[in-house]
Formats: sequence, C-alpha cells, structure tokens
Amino acid sequence: MGKGNARGDGAAAGKVARRGVDKDAIQQAVLTILRAIGEDPEREGLLGTPRRIAKMYEELFSGIGEDPMALLTVGFEEKHKEMVIVKDIPLASLCEHHLLPFHGVAHVAYIPNGRIVGISKIARLVEMLAHRPQVQERLTSQIADLLMEGLRARGAAVVIDAEHFCMTMRGVKKPGSRVVTSANRGIFRENPSTRAEFLSLLGRPAG
Ligand code: ZN
Repeated sequence: MGKGNARGDGAAAGKVARRGVDKDAIQQAVLTILRAIGEDPEREGLLGTPRRIAKMYEELFSGIGEDPMALLTVGFEEKHKEMVIVKDIPLASLCEHHLLPFHGVAHVAYIPNGRIVGISKIARLVEMLAHRPQVQERLTSQIADLLMEGLRARGAAVVIDAEHFCMTMRGVKKPGSRVVTSANRGIFRENPSTRAEFLSLLGRPAG
C-alpha cells in the first residue's frame, strides 16, 4: 500500500501474496503432533483428524494475504457526518501465541468525512482480519487504522471484548475473564465527549 499508510505495523495488516494453505503439509504436521503426544493416529477416532484440521485451517486462516482495504474502496459518497456504530459484531480468531481461539464481540464506530461504507463491509473487515493468527491488541488497532485510511474518516473507534482460551483452559485458568481492548483515532482521540458518546451508546461507562 506504499509509504505513509496508517496501519502502523506494515505487512501484518497489508497485502501479501495470497497462496492459500498447504493442506498436505498441515496433515503431515498434525500426524507428527499426534504421534509426539503419544497418541495413535491410526485409531478410529483420529483417522480423519489431520484432514479435518487441514480443511479447518484453510477456513480459519483465509484472511492471510487478503487485502482488507479492497473492502473499503467500494464505499460511496454521502453527506452524513455523524457517528456510525456497528455493535456486537461476532468475532472469533486464533491467538498467534498458542493458536487457541479467542472469541467475543467487536464494536466499531467511525465518523465519516463525506464517504461511508456498507455496514456488511465492516463486519467482513473484522472477519477478514480475525482469520489470521492474531493478537487482540493488534486486531483492534488494525480495524481503526484501516477505517481512517480507507474512508479518510474524521475518526474511528474500536472496542473488542473477548475471552481467550489460552487464559481459560491453560496457564492461569481464569474462566470467564475477558480482555477488553480499545483503539481511538482522529476525533475520538482528540475529543473526550465524542469518545464518551461512543461508549455510552455501547452501554459502557466512559473511562
Ligand atoms: Zn494465546
């Protein structure tokens, strides 16, 4: 996307060559893991597991190499200059540290500057970025930065509220604990009352 883009972390949010996953290699790797944990990959219940995981990874990592900016280029001109909020977008991703799921909801807001985008495109943007190995903090920032850059919005704000299996089924084992991240850009960062309006529309106390 050239120099000076707003994504901050460069290639992680950007366009890389779309190759798809190598399902044969995934199957071999899963077989290796099953043997390494002392299982018998030939027993009935595990026979189809490498193939199923390869197929599943193809879906769960389908966002690798896709260009999220392409979703925002189909926006249209519109005079509306008030806040647009898409609440409770279901979110499921895999944390890149453990490849375990984290899941929850994303709330996305922006204030247009003459250009808006279809609501479904925002949900699709969240999904595309979630279908990559992720960390919640980066995912939150990427969504906000892409809205700013793609729509040249006056402001963008994102809150993600998620539960991480790497916290609830291993390690510190704190079931029910949730991780909340937020990113504020443009007028949401500059103007506390804009941010407060967003949070009150989400039903959250202004922080
Ligand atoms: Zn993790």
